[in-house]
Amino acid sequence: MNCSRVLSMTHPALIDELKTLVEPGKVLTDADSLEAYGKDWTKHFAPAPCAIVFPKTTEQVQAIVRWANAHKVALVPSGGRTGLSAAAVAANGEVVVSFDYMNQILDVNLTDRTAVCQPGVVTQQLQNVAAENGLYYPVDFASSGSSQIGGNIGTNAGGIKVIRYGMTRNWVAGMKVVTGKGDVLELNRDLIKNATGYDMRQLFIGAEGTLGFVVEATMRLDRAPKNLTAMVLGTTDFDSIMPVLHAFQSKLDLTAFEFFSDKALAKVLGRGDVPAPFDTECRSMHCWNSKPPLKKSPTTRWKPSSTASSRAGCWTA
Ligand SMILES: Cc1cc2nc3c(=O)[nH]c(=O)nc-3n(C[C@H](O)[C@H](O)[C@H](O)COP(=O)(O)OP(=O)(O)OC[C@H]3O[C@@H](n4cnc5c(N)ncnc54)[C@H](O)[C@@H]3O)c2cc1C
Repeated sequence: MNCSRVLSMTHPALIDELKTLVEPGKVLTDADSLEAYGKDWTKHFAPAPCAIVFPKTTEQVQAIVRWANAHKVALVPSGGRTGLSAAAVAANGEVVVSFDYMNQILDVNLTDRTAVCQPGVVTQQLQNVAAENGLYYPVDFASSGSSQIGGNIGTNAGGIKVIRYGMTRNWVAGMKVVTGKGDVLELNRDLIKNATGYDMRQLFIGAEGTLGFVVEATMRLDRAPKNLTAMVLGTTDFDSIMPVLHAFQSKLDLTAFEFFSDKALAKVLGRGDVPAPFDTECRSMHCWNSKPPLKKSPTTRWKPSSTASSRAGCWTA
């Protein structure tokens, strides 16, 4: 939610006013916090926010937005700051609105298979709660231990299982947002079947915080997949990858399909904590989750590692 004009926010009276809108200690202006909360993983821009504010309620978010409008201050919504496109960067004296303290899963509905999340719920937290209830939240990536549901919605995050489960967009049943005016909108009301008019929910998903703050999201959950098998297949050339995908996809419900090169594998093996999947070298490899293996694809050559422990390490889902 970036205003076009950013006023200098060095005036202490403005910060003092901001402090009255949230709980004590929930506005930070120290150098370390400004540095940490002013950037994401891109690290291309020098972070320079003027303050970080941590609301705990929707009402506090509304109050912050109204305060920002009154004083023409730009706000940057901030999740886990794992984004790779600098969308959460504050480099021009903005106030960063962090959802670190709005991090509760408010309800799990086993009948509807949904979980009502505050925006600061960490992706992995939702995955774990789903699993504890015999369900499954399939959006997953290497940053799941740090990224937040609000940020996932802001970026319409995809991840490694998009091929089967789609993007975050597919998993948002309903949302509560605070607009740039400070109004609250309830979007879709968690309905699966809803054919009434415009679906504003979809506009907010992937908007990178430009249209408003997500302050609550009802996320859909799924039945947990069973009998997943991870397979690693080596190919001699890059061009074989898509035919391999095609060959497998026509016969199996793939959950994930990724490729990596010998060079990338060498880096991972260099850490010493993962066994080599093959005895021989190949130029690229695919890794995917599926039901048990098919016959070998004609376009590929592969030779599994000869040691049982190595195979187990590589082939366990
Ligand atoms: C190792 C690694 C692997 C990754 N893999 C993938 C991947 O496979 N697929 C993928 O899609 N991404 C991937 N990413 C990128 C990143 O993790 C995702 O985009 C993630 O969804 C960002 O979530 P976040 O909470 O960190 O958001 P942030 O980076 O904090 O913010 C992202 C955007 O969302 C906005 N935002 C944050 N909270 C809110 C809110 N409550 N309301 C409105 N807007 C908000 C921010 O302003 C910003 O525009 C990866 C990142 C890393 C570091």
